[in-house]
Amino acid sequence: MRLLVTGGAGFIGSNFVHYVLREHPEDTVVNVDSLTYAGNLENLRSVEGNPNYHFVKVDITDREGLRPLFEQGIDVVVNFAAESHVDRSILEPDVFVRTNILGTQTLLDLAKEYGVSKYVQVSTDEVYGTLGETGLFSETTPLAPNSPYSASKAGADLLVRAYHETFGLPVNITRCSNNYGPFQFPEKLIPLMIQNALEDKPLPVYGDGLNVRDWLYVEDHCSAIDLVIRKGVNGEVYNVGGNNERNNLQVVKTILKELNKPESLIAFVTDRLGHDRRYAIDATKIRRELGWQSKYNYESGIVETIRWYLNNREWMERVRSGSYQQYYEKQYGDR
Ligand code: NAD
Repeated sequence: MRLLVTGGAGFIGSNFVHYVLREHPEDTVVNVDSLTYAGNLENLRSVEGNPNYHFVKVDITDREGLRPLFEQGIDVVVNFAAESHVDRSILEPDVFVRTNILGTQTLLDLAKEYGVSKYVQVSTDEVYGTLGETGLFSETTPLAPNSPYSASKAGADLLVRAYHETFGLPVNITRCSNNYGPFQFPEKLIPLMIQNALEDKPLPVYGDGLNVRDWLYVEDHCSAIDLVIRKGVNGEVYNVGGNNERNNLQVVKTILKELNKPESLIAFVTDRLGHDRRYAIDATKIRRELGWQSKYNYESGIVETIRWYLNNREWMERVRSGSYQQYYEKQYGDR
């Protein structure tokens, strides 16, 4: 099978590339990434030289740039490429609409034109909006996105649905909860907090810190997507989640405890605009219909993740140079 994986230099995409090359050595992965600030080819250093792995620097909105890849034959498209950070979408929504919606439409057009056997859109639980104290998102929960990021992902999901209904394109959409694990860009909660704690800098926590997310180890997300590629029923949406609800303060306290740092480093900052209060996923469908199971429990997965960042401080240092620094200063000043 020849897979075109977009956004493979990012956090989940690079974990997925490693996963497929390890679990399906007979498959070929063509990694298409435009290498924005979030794309880091160092994540894939260990697979360079693998004859079944190819990297091509192309923007997913560049139809003619993508065409030669489809002409060489593609069986499956897995679209991870996206602008993914909610805070950035509040500052500059334009690029989110361009990449997340127009990029998806470009890929759908090519998938249709070249007759791929599967198109998988990697989406997010954020398209469902926010929950109160109780309840879970199911695949039939109405879409109610609250940030420019989640609105652009919801727009893309609707296009994917429409290409199935209108053109019969064999699609699936996965909607996963928050991921954690190696290679995550240090603007996101867990690597950001680890980095600050290691440097004895304040750990900026939004609002009262009680916003709840349902955390899943990245490799469990990869195994779910892999299963959907191979067994997903065309046209279906599959929610993916680990039943690991934690509020931000709990996550931050675990990091501080593991790194032996004082809780006095926690600094509450003005809440994010439109900050969703709680996400929680009902993943019954993918478990029951495709037999998916998560392997990692949160308690050990988070400790393993903290250790990975500790053991890869050079990776962190290199990522933090350049545009990340400027962005960080804009958001958090001198912290
Ligand atoms: P990321 O920001 O780490 O990586 C995104 C990748 O896409 C980068 O390598 C970047 O260079 C690339 N990219 C961005 N714009 C591009 C363009 N126009 N053309 C080609 N490549 C482009 O993101 P991530 O956290 O790995 O998320 C991957 C996907 O999974 C996204 O679609 C996101 O919405 C979804 N998702 C993420 C989470 C999470 O917790 N991180 C949870 C559920 C779903």
